[in-house]
Amino acid sequence: MISTDVDFDMPGLQFGKLRVPHSVHRSAYGHIQIPIAVAANGHGPTVLLTGGVHGDEYEGPIALARLAREIDVNRVTGRIIIAPTLNHPAFVAGTRVSPIDGVNLNRIFPGRRDGTITEMIAHYVTAELLPRADCLIDLHAGGSSLQYLPTLLAPRWSDPQKASRVEALIDAFEPENVIYFDSVRALSGEDRVIGNYAHQKNVDFLTGEFGGGSSVNIDGLSTAEKGIRGVLAHLGVLPADQRATPRDRGIRRFAMDDPGLYAFADRRGFFEPRFALGQTLPSGAVAGLIHDIDNPWSAPVVVHFRTGGIAMCVRTFSLVEAGDCIGHLASEI
Ligand SMILES: [Zn+2]
Repeated sequence: MISTDVDFDMPGLQFGKLRVPHSVHRSAYGHIQIPIAVAANGHGPTVLLTGGVHGDEYEGPIALARLAREIDVNRVTGRIIIAPTLNHPAFVAGTRVSPIDGVNLNRIFPGRRDGTITEMIAHYVTAELLPRADCLIDLHAGGSSLQYLPTLLAPRWSDPQKASRVEALIDAFEPENVIYFDSVRALSGEDRVIGNYAHQKNVDFLTGEFGGGSSVNIDGLSTAEKGIRGVLAHLGVLPADQRATPRDRGIRRFAMDDPGLYAFADRRGFFEPRFALGQTLPSGAVAGLIHDIDNPWSAPVVVHFRTGGIAMCVRTFSLVEAGDCIGHLASEI
């Protein structure tokens, strides 16, 4: 259902849009326009770069739009496809999910050709963009409700060939932190995410959380910008001089499969965190206190992390309902 004014096979640098049909009361023949850029030159791999899959995450859109503006297409070998604000309606609204259909783009893959606006976007990625790509980097942050220590996320493969390809991508990205996730079931058993369909189409995949809280984390932004250029240079799509000078410190590697690393509120209230991002916590550490909204005299409920680790993520909103994640740790490996 989605058309575009860019030609993916044409050499050169093109700035265009994806047009999603959106016929509504105020606009009978209307479309939603999603910005897309394509830089193609010579023969080489295709790298797909996406940001704004959630509309309240900003490091990806800034990093990717700047990359597109600064690209010298004559120095490209292969193709770079850039969609800095893939869920554009959500990005315009500054919300995680689309204001049009209430759908979370990263929980609706593979999407549907004749579905809602967000389902159509997911379907276009699955049917048109991923089949053209050799590598996908999807930049995220914690959105409005979470704040992350900037971290790359990478799949863990048992196949040694795939694993070493991913390791080379991680080295080229050179983040301060990388968390490995289950390559088959993706994050936390969730299989409706973009990464799951990248795997199915044999597209190498990296993602990451580069900040959060509806703001811009300047360390996360710089990590993402250097990382993208590093990967493009590693794949030979950009010249080697696009790789940043290596940092002194090594990459810290983490896992977060153990459910005990996550803390959830089991009642409504307002939350007082008892940890800071980057802090190392032992098993059974207090994650925070949930205070009673209506009765400040009643003792707060204590929430624990069952497993110890390094604090990667904390909830930004103090108000919680039962079932809200208030933070998670990751264990160093
Ligand atoms: Zn996100």
